[in-house]
Amino acid sequence: MKILYTLLFIVSFQFSFSQSNIITTNPLAEQVMQGMYDPVTYYPPAILNHPDTIVNGINQRVKPDSLMSYNAKLGSFYTRNSGSDTVSSTKGIGAARRWVYGKFQEFSALNNNRLIPSYLQFDLNICGAGQHRSPMAVLPGIDTSDHSIIIIESHIDSRCEVLCDTSCLAQGSDDNGSGTALVIELARIMSKYSFSHTIVFITNIGEEQGLYGAEALADYVQENSIPIKAVLNNDIVGGVLCGHTSSPPSCSPFGDIDSTQLRLFSYGGFSSPHKGLVRFIKLEYKEELLPMVNVPMTISVMTGEDRSGRGGDHIPFREHGYTAMRFTSANENGNADVTNVNYEDNQHTSKDVMGYDTDGDGVIDSFLVDFNYLARNTTINATGAAMAAIGPITPAFTISVTGSEAQINIDCPVVYPQYRVGVRSNTFDWDTVYTFTSPAITMILPSDSVNYVSVATVDTNGVESLFSEEQVAHITGIGSPANGQGIYLLSAKPNPADEATMITVYTDHLVNYKEAFIRILDSNGNMIKQLPITLKKGISEAIYHHGFRASGTYFYHAGS
Ligand SMILES: [Zn+2]
Repeated sequence: MKILYTLLFIVSFQFSFSQSNIITTNPLAEQVMQGMYDPVTYYPPAILNHPDTIVNGINQRVKPDSLMSYNAKLGSFYTRNSGSDTVSSTKGIGAARRWVYGKFQEFSALNNNRLIPSYLQFDLNICGAGQHRSPMAVLPGIDTSDHSIIIIESHIDSRCEVLCDTSCLAQGSDDNGSGTALVIELARIMSKYSFSHTIVFITNIGEEQGLYGAEALADYVQENSIPIKAVLNNDIVGGVLCGHTSSPPSCSPFGDIDSTQLRLFSYGGFSSPHKGLVRFIKLEYKEELLPMVNVPMTISVMTGEDRSGRGGDHIPFREHGYTAMRFTSANENGNADVTNVNYEDNQHTSKDVMGYDTDGDGVIDSFLVDFNYLARNTTINATGAAMAAIGPITPAFTISVTGSEAQINIDCPVVYPQYRVGVRSNTFDWDTVYTFTSPAITMILPSDSVNYVSVATVDTNGVESLFSEEQVAHITGIGSPANGQGIYLLSAKPNPADEATMITVYTDHLVNYKEAFIRILDSNGNMIKQLPITLKKGISEAIYHHGFRASGTYFYHAGS
């Protein structure tokens, strides 16, 4: 991750420099991602593609020891700065990426050569290095009728206080050895199973300097017309200890340990497909994985695309129009603001290590990265990705509401045994996900709020599709119009908020004054913020980023 001023600097930089000559070093990887292959070529001796088999297998096979060994190896390269040594066999980014590539080769050999290792290579000056390679592995889908791919990504690079310091110790054990170990472990395990869609595992270079590796991949798939179903980014997913400057809206106080909570970040408001993907991942956890795990996890659907002023490798994909989200631990050891003279936390420093040897016997006995926690996050990620990779077609639908009764008609070219309807009111998560056996549904919705509705199909194995984009079902009892002209100010979501709050305006007709604003007032009536909002018929939204540890009661009103 990186902080906002870095992003702004890089954006201006990019007018003159951008990634060029983007290729996969293995042509087979490109052919498969484009859907130009015979799936039979990559069949294993037995096709294992039942959801129960896959989720059981993932839950049993993801190993904390395996994750720890990858994390230790990644740390052993001393630094993985994008501009560091590419020649040495033991130190620097070159040795690190060759090791990851070798792991992908090893997993492929163990699984009938089904996993196709490659690098995504591109040219760009990053910290003095002109050419870069992100290790990747492609697992071909067994059904090319819809050849959209699923990407499971991390960033392999690490850094110290100075962005292009290529000689300092930068083990990057949590940022982002944790996410990279997760991606390697999933390449190992998921290549034992068969998925309808192709899955791409990639550990991106150049994240710390400006999300360059992820942007190169997003450019590449767009230029090659490769459709993407979902992107799951993993960045800082193993740390459990709260630092002094933990990233908002994370942990408090310093020293707090949390190994049972996970944050899912994504872009956009009520109709955003990114938040739909996040809700889907959480639903698959609750319904498929939770019944078989020993330690239940609390998963939060976050309001913002990332923590305040920060970003990650899911963002270039969203900017290119693809559906993308990010996994991040609840507790972070720092906010990565190493320019702050009082900064004493671990992120983006030589202190981002796996843990400490407290008794001097040469063995780490006190861990900053908790590998049981990382294993839980790995299984959550894999379950969501796997269900998206074997699930059926996302349908379209219409909804009409009379009083509290909603008529929902699901429109899909294929008949499915079941359909699901997700209903949401005041948070970004569903209140309830209903199941029906007919695509023509009449149901009573809760009458005291606005309901957001989305639908999915369910196949014969009980796997649901990704959900459609939401539509709003306007129910009476949502309060009086803000100005007597059919403009309604709805309750903010979530409320209480995390670090950002979505303020929603509903209008039941086309309005004359489309440019409006939301004013945030404190309890003395002083204006804290004025947010512009463009009004359209139906739902319009504005995000209020109030940052970390803002507390108290705030008021808002709309004007035009
Ligand atoms: Zn990171």
